[in-house]
Amino acid sequence: MFSERIDFSHEPNLTIDELVRRVLASNPEGDAELLKKCYEFAELKHIKQKRSSGEAYIIHPLNVAATLVKLKMDLDSIMAGLLHDTVEDCDVSPEDIEKEFGKSVAQIVVGCTKISKIKFKSKEESQAENFRKMVVAMAQDLRVIIVKLSDRMHNMRTLQYVSKEKQMAKAQETLDIYVPLASRLGINSVKGELEDLCLRYLHPDTYYRLAEKISMKRTERDGYIRDTIDTVQEKLMEYSVQAEVTGRPKHFYSIYKKMSQRGVDFDQIQDLLAFRILTNNITECYKVLGVIHSAFTPVPGRFKDYIAIPKVNNYQSLHTTVIGPGAERIEIQIRTFEMHEVAERGVAAHWKYKERDKTAPVNKLKWVEELMEFNQNVTSSSEFMDVVKNDLDVGGIFIFTPAGDVKELRYGATALDFAYSVHTQVGNQCVGAKVNGKMVPLKYRLKSGDTVEVLTSKTQVPSKDWLKICKTSRAITKIKQYLQKVERDKHHEDGEQMLDQALKRYGTTAKNIEKQGGFHNVYDSFHIKTLEELQVNIGSRMHNLRDILPKVMGIDYVEVPQEEVVKESYADQIVKNARRSLGRDNAVIVDGLDDVQVRMGRCCNPIPGDPIIGFITRGRGITVHAVGCHRAHEVENSRRIDVQWNKGYAFAHPVNIRVMTHDKPGILSKISKTITNGGINIRAAMARSLPDQKGSFVFEIEVKNYSELLKTISAIEQMEEVITVSRA
Ligand code: MN
Repeated sequence: MFSERIDFSHEPNLTIDELVRRVLASNPEGDAELLKKCYEFAELKHIKQKRSSGEAYIIHPLNVAATLVKLKMDLDSIMAGLLHDTVEDCDVSPEDIEKEFGKSVAQIVVGCTKISKIKFKSKEESQAENFRKMVVAMAQDLRVIIVKLSDRMHNMRTLQYVSKEKQMAKAQETLDIYVPLASRLGINSVKGELEDLCLRYLHPDTYYRLAEKISMKRTERDGYIRDTIDTVQEKLMEYSVQAEVTGRPKHFYSIYKKMSQRGVDFDQIQDLLAFRILTNNITECYKVLGVIHSAFTPVPGRFKDYIAIPKVNNYQSLHTTVIGPGAERIEIQIRTFEMHEVAERGVAAHWKYKERDKTAPVNKLKWVEELMEFNQNVTSSSEFMDVVKNDLDVGGIFIFTPAGDVKELRYGATALDFAYSVHTQVGNQCVGAKVNGKMVPLKYRLKSGDTVEVLTSKTQVPSKDWLKICKTSRAITKIKQYLQKVERDKHHEDGEQMLDQALKRYGTTAKNIEKQGGFHNVYDSFHIKTLEELQVNIGSRMHNLRDILPKVMGIDYVEVPQEEVVKESYADQIVKNARRSLGRDNAVIVDGLDDVQVRMGRCCNPIPGDPIIGFITRGRGITVHAVGCHRAHEVENSRRIDVQWNKGYAFAHPVNIRVMTHDKPGILSKISKTITNGGINIRAAMARSLPDQKGSFVFEIEVKNYSELLKTISAIEQMEEVITVSRA
């Protein structure tokens, strides 16, 4: 028995009668008349159109519908498959379809049309925007995406008729968008087929070489598969296990992926064959595994139990690789018939069960809902794209809780991600974790099989840095929500204070004015609903008091200089406090510390504009280093302190620059002039002659900030004799 794969080949001679026959074969209660009516409707609408192949257009929707039958989708989906291009191409309105074929069919067709209109562009940003829309379309009814996948399947199957550019573009888009979707929905039959088609158009050399190599050994291979199946069957019979055994060469794309991952050539790839053993129940799966492992030597590290711990897309199976007959490495998958149904058809398999069990609707999936939630919380499209791509990646890790529960997280997830997967509150208060009994920091990357216990503290709160630590969309969403709330609260508090301070001048308070409805005009003109919202907007500087006050009823507005009204910004306050306490200007401001001695690290000598970090030194106050300085990395974390440049500081900083030149007479004075012409003071200069008629100079100059340094360097660089200029 070979290849049990669903055959998605283009069927050029398919008719509606044949389609109806297939529908009735799997569902005797299917409505033949309705299907035919649907077909006639579509055929009439597409009558003037042709496919790129020259065929009548209707062959396309007919094949799409046939794919949906193969995936065992419900009648609504099959009808939508027949009609999927009518709204887009034939001026049919969604209302027409709803009137003729019902609301559900119309909705699926409308969803497909929406996705078709998405113009996938090469620019990441716009592609992300489109992907976002696609997720939205999918969230309403998952059948939309299954019809769309069937549509794409047929288009990929008939891609040889379009131009080369179009082939490449379609194949890339399929690989980027549709393959991950099929994978995430667990429709592995569609995923495998699409991947192979993409390989054929994106890397034709590899594809045809693989095809040739595999077919060269075809007779030999078929013989080997047959012999192996017989051997396995015999072994199973010995233990009186009943199972169905099949064998096939692996998908090209999975071979290609292995080749490029391991950086090896085709000849070095050993396991090209995959066998599948289907049983009636789970107990027999493990029994089969026992038989296989005692009959053949298992390859260490290749056994995976996706029955005990299913993949996020609900895939269940046992995987093992063994040394088969003739010392060939073969991969064996063992699962029940039911699991196989889910493995091939994924989420589509549920519609079949749905007819029996109406209580289990799966129109929506949890991860789609989570994506939707995330969608509302991100500001940049490319960020959204990253998250979607990550979430579609089914390669997960399995983590155990101390109680023995299993959670699946995506690959690369950290201890903090795990904390958020337990509960938002646990995440927000997470201070660390114990992995397999050992203390680890928040950013610790978890491995499959780790047992993780989260450590929390009531005083802990999320910070911006956490966004860099987390890899799961759930954690990122929750942290952002928290940070937004904190920011909003701060703006609210600021705004409240600013507004009341301004109103004090008129002898009233915001509360009083609100009671008398005096903000009515303000709300109307700024589209605001509550006093709190107004205060937040004032606090965030979105609205200016000078624009608001004239509109407040019950006060007699007088124009005042802005400084009197606007509260000092937080940063300004710090600057002032620092100056006051130190009694003089200081180049660096240290958060939260008033009276402290600050010195610049001699190793890196940072100047304003450089990213900096401070370290508390025993007895000597604080030393400031450039963030990239090697000394900065050697200091333990607990001694770090946030520092920032004082924008009001105007003294000059010494900095050394090294200049390499061709050795020409008078060059030193020429460079010096260039520097001083820019208004820069030179404190010292050192010159040295190098071999090959070259000279090396080090100048100690005084600059106010980073941009002044850059200006000086670029002025020197522009001199004809100069080879290089760098900071020393
Ligand atoms: Mn189509």
